[in-house]
Parts: sequence; structure tokens; C-alpha cells
Amino acid sequence: MLSTDTNIYIDVQSIENSRISSLDENNIPFGRVFSDHMFIADYKDGSWTDFKIVPYGNLSLSPSAATLHYSQTIFEGMKAFYNTKDEVVLFRPEENYKRLMRSCERMCIPKMDKEIFMQGLKKLIDIDRKWVPKSEGSSLYIRPFIFASEEFLGVRPAEEYKFIIFTCPVGTYYAEPVRVKVETKFVRAASGGVGNAKTGGNYAAALYPAKIAQEEGYHQLIWTDAKEHKYIEESGTMNIMFVIDDGNNRKIITPPTGNTILEGITRQSLILLAKDLGYEVEERPVSVAEIEEAIKNKTLKEAFGVGTAAVISQIILIGIEGNDYDLPAIETRKVSNHLLKELKAIRSAEIEDRFEWMEKV
Ligand SMILES: *Cc1c(COP(=O)(O)O)cnc(C)c1O
Repeated sequence: MLSTDTNIYIDVQSIENSRISSLDENNIPFGRVFSDHMFIADYKDGSWTDFKIVPYGNLSLSPSAATLHYSQTIFEGMKAFYNTKDEVVLFRPEENYKRLMRSCERMCIPKMDKEIFMQGLKKLIDIDRKWVPKSEGSSLYIRPFIFASEEFLGVRPAEEYKFIIFTCPVGTYYAEPVRVKVETKFVRAASGGVGNAKTGGNYAAALYPAKIAQEEGYHQLIWTDAKEHKYIEESGTMNIMFVIDDGNNRKIITPPTGNTILEGITRQSLILLAKDLGYEVEERPVSVAEIEEAIKNKTLKEAFGVGTAAVISQIILIGIEGNDYDLPAIETRKVSNHLLKELKAIRSAEIEDRFEWMEKV
């Protein structure tokens, strides 16, 4: 194991002609423009080795690479952006490292030292610094992932893997309020399954139910528990929060992360922030019946998804067993708007980083 201050050796093969001049910062299609370089590490003969930064490009892979058949693969999603002091910063990158290691454990992928993740990440962002967009609300989306690359068609944990980080500039993301359907037939994650690992199969399994919901006029699903479909779990690929206010008492409620709900870093950060700002937060099972009741008696004030992509994605309509309920107007949503404003101020260094969340590159 490497000690905490060990520098790893990273071989850098720079691109000859940067593609940066082709980037129109005011018009970046999501997930289609990739920065000049990528970081690669290989796992073979029992250890992570061969750290390098190379021009972004295609990989050469055996058709029998294990991940293509049995999905032994995991990923992370995070962002780098400019703050108001003209520094490039990351939001809680160690949390992404820790979560990636938890996903490794569940998917039988060998773990790696923190230095490999952090130094590979920071060096890559530093080399492609000019790809971090500067316009308000834009950022550099970062995709670290690991997959089984061994050429072997047997079902067992692979003996060879690749860890890659690449990045894409993303423009100002205006999160359109969404119409969501409470899913009571299909399942995202069952207890004991892989719901709390960030692994590709969870996403593949969600495509079909999401497609049906879209045909019915919704944007997204609210997943419920696999056993009874009584309790709310997540919204699409985001965690979910509600604000209930009965006139005497206002509180934020959100389902607890267990083995079926992914532990969102945005979720955890917003809970800390909300408590710090004096809001009451309850992490406890939230039933569909409770939400339906709160909508009917008008105590449900806000519902929103939380995750790295949009931070807060407002829910404007919830469909429960064929009944569509309109939720309060976005401009009335004091709690989520307050949390978003405060988090943005911390991230952009307009106010003190009192939780020490930001890390300079
Ligand atoms: C990534 C993800 C989230 C959100 O996590 P963040 O760290 O906040 O981006 C929530 N749910 C699922 C299923 C996810 O894959």
C-alpha cells in the first residue's frame, strides 16, 4: 500500500493538436464533446499499474472481455468548475473515491489506493484545464470508471481491469421541472442486490420501465421498494427529498440509504447543509400513501431529485396509480431554492467553505 503522501508516477503522452478551438462554450451538447486527454490505469498480476495520461481515443478490447458479457463494471460522476477566485475546484472528490471503493467491493473489483484515484484525477484536470468552461453554471463533467478487461469467457471475478477517467465540458444545465410516475410494477433494486453500487446494470434495467413511463407522458420514475411497492426510494438516477409543512412544523424528509438506495454525495451534502441552516431533516422510510395524503391536504410543499448532474431537479407533477397530482409552483419552494443558493455560494467561493468540501486542482 502507498502511504498518503506518495506521488505516483504518471506517464504523460500529450496530444499534438488540441481540439479545444472546436469547442463553442455557449453551445455544448451534453456528453458528446470530450476533452483532449484521459487517464488510464491497468490491473494485472494482482496490482494496479501503468498509470498514464494519453490522448482521448478508442480502446482496443477483446470481444470476450468479461465486462461486455457479465457487466463487471462500475463508475462515478463528478464535476470540476471555476469558482469566483478563478480557481479550478472539485466538490468532495474523496467521497467519490470512497463510493467507487464500495462499488468495487460489491462487484468483486480490486480496490486501489486513494493516491491513484486522486493524483490521476487532478493531473488529468490540470492538463486539460482549458477544457473547464467558464460561463455561469457550466462545468467539466468527470467520468471515472472501472471495467473487467480480461479475455476470458468464464463467470468469475476477472483478473484484469482498466480504470479510466475522461472528462466532458457541459454547458449551463437548466433543469426543466419534471413529471414523475410512481412505479409500482418494475423494480430498480431489491434488498441484497446491487442497488447501492454504481454499476451499469442498474441503468440498463431501468431503461424499459422509464421508456413506458415516457410513453405515458412522464419524464421519469419514482422507484418504490421491491417487496411491497409501498415506500419511495429514488427518483430516476437521483435521490429524492420532500418538504412537508403543516403550518406548525416544517421538515425535509428523505428515504434512508440502505442496500437499495444509492448513497448520493449531493443528498448527504444537502442534509448537512439543511441541518446547519436550521431545517429539520428526517431520514426515514417515506410511504407513497404519506405523500399522497400530504398532497391532498396541501401540506406537501416541495418534491425534488438531488444529484451531481442538476444538484436539484424540481418535481412538478407526481402520478400515483393513474392519478396525476400537480405540486406547488417552483417559485414558492423556499427550502430547495435556499439550499441550492447556499450550495452554489459555497461551491463558487462566494461564501466560506465551512464544511471544507472544495478541493483546488
Ligand atoms: C449517482 C446516483 C445518484 C446521485 O449521486 P450523487 O453523488 O449525488 O451524484 C443517486 N441515485 C443513483 C441511482 C445514482 O446512480
